[in-house]
Amino acid sequence: MSKDYDYIIVGAGIAGCSTSYFLSKYSDSILLIDRNCDLAQGASGAAGAFLSPLLGKTNKFKDLVTDALKFSTNFYLENIPTEITNCGVVRIPKNQEDRDKFETYIPFMDFPYEEMEDGYYFKVGSQVNSYNICKYLSQEVETLFKYEVVKIEKYENFWLINDEFKAKNLILTTGADISLIEEEYFNIRAVWGQKIDIFTSTQTTKNYHKDCSLSHSTSVKEKNGYITSIGATHNRIECDLNVCNHCLKKLGLDNFSHDTYTNDLILDDTKKLISLANSIKSLENVELLDIKIGPRASSIDYFPMLGRLIDSKKTLDNFPHLVNGSFIKDKMLSQLENLYVLNGVGGRGYVLSPYLAYLLVESIINKKDFLEDIQTHRLFKRWVKKYKNHKI
Ligand SMILES: Cc1cc2nc3c(=O)[nH]c(=O)nc-3n(C[C@H](O)[C@H](O)[C@H](O)COP(=O)(O)OP(=O)(O)OC[C@H]3O[C@@H](n4cnc5c(N)ncnc54)[C@H](O)[C@@H]3O)c2cc1C
Repeated sequence: MSKDYDYIIVGAGIAGCSTSYFLSKYSDSILLIDRNCDLAQGASGAAGAFLSPLLGKTNKFKDLVTDALKFSTNFYLENIPTEITNCGVVRIPKNQEDRDKFETYIPFMDFPYEEMEDGYYFKVGSQVNSYNICKYLSQEVETLFKYEVVKIEKYENFWLINDEFKAKNLILTTGADISLIEEEYFNIRAVWGQKIDIFTSTQTTKNYHKDCSLSHSTSVKEKNGYITSIGATHNRIECDLNVCNHCLKKLGLDNFSHDTYTNDLILDDTKKLISLANSIKSLENVELLDIKIGPRASSIDYFPMLGRLIDSKKTLDNFPHLVNGSFIKDKMLSQLENLYVLNGVGGRGYVLSPYLAYLLVESIINKKDFLEDIQTHRLFKRWVKKYKNHKI
């Protein structure tokens, strides 16, 4: 017999955990599912989890990141103060060209800063403890691990998951793996990254960002040294289980030995990260402690994807002239009922997710609108323009 929930969330990274937190204020019938053995085992476990401002001239994406940074930093500080270290971040230009660009950004800085150590120090910069944050956020909801969702089917009043669970509402927070979504316009690229933790005798009191991020250090008194994190790399790898261990479907990615070419990639990335970190601060007596890898979910226009999905087939059945470029209002587009996504948070999952989860839950429960640029409509509209080259 199937078990019923008001909400099922698939994916227990920072996106799913944030969503479960805000939903739990309104419902006590929520199930959070992940194929991995615990929370934050995908990209969310690999993240350095730095919170840092986006620099540049004013544009919509920068405004979004600024709003999210303010919201999420305050949220962590107020609710989970033990898991955030607000030590500030020094942003160091990579070269003279980058330094000149930084100068042009000065009139557009959204946060107070001062010049420091060859760069710009922003007090707002922080780092969070990724696993503990996800644990706190999901503590009020039921969780189910080691459970892969392979099938979702829509019935009149509910979604059926693997013929086993019924949900009045289904929320997909599956990161780079979007195989459950059968909509061609919903496109995500996996950008693989690596973060390492090292032991060193050098102390770092702030976060730094140049070609890589280097975290403030934690003292290990008995060993007379410090633990520091260094992230992150960017690799595009085609996902194929037969040849590659960096696979979206692979469980416990960090806990088995890599014997394919990804092993070389991991070793190269480790060397690269240590060398890049040394160009920020000279690190003495370095010992490698831990390596984490994960796939960032990046949308094609870098904006996240939030809210309901457009049902492309139904919309085109109703409005076949859309393929010829005719215009209809967004509210006329058919949507997949009671199915929601929070995805495409890219390299800023710990900045964007609490803010976006709050917006998503407010839209589901209190019917509040949110910014058009992060709705999935835009992707459908872009895709439909090229429809003649596609088949639904
Ligand atoms: C090396 C690295 C460094 C980073 N550094 C930072 C940083 O400093 N600051 C920052 O803000 N962000 C950073 N990021 C980005 C951040 O990690 C991501 O944006 C964020 O973790 C994405 O969260 P998510 O919940 O969308 O995806 P994920 O954490 O990948 O979670 C998706 C989950 O869905 C599950 N899932 C998928 N499909 C199914 C299915 N069918 N059935 C069951 N479960 C399923 C997966 O197992 C996975 O656990 C970094 C990323 C990397 C890789």
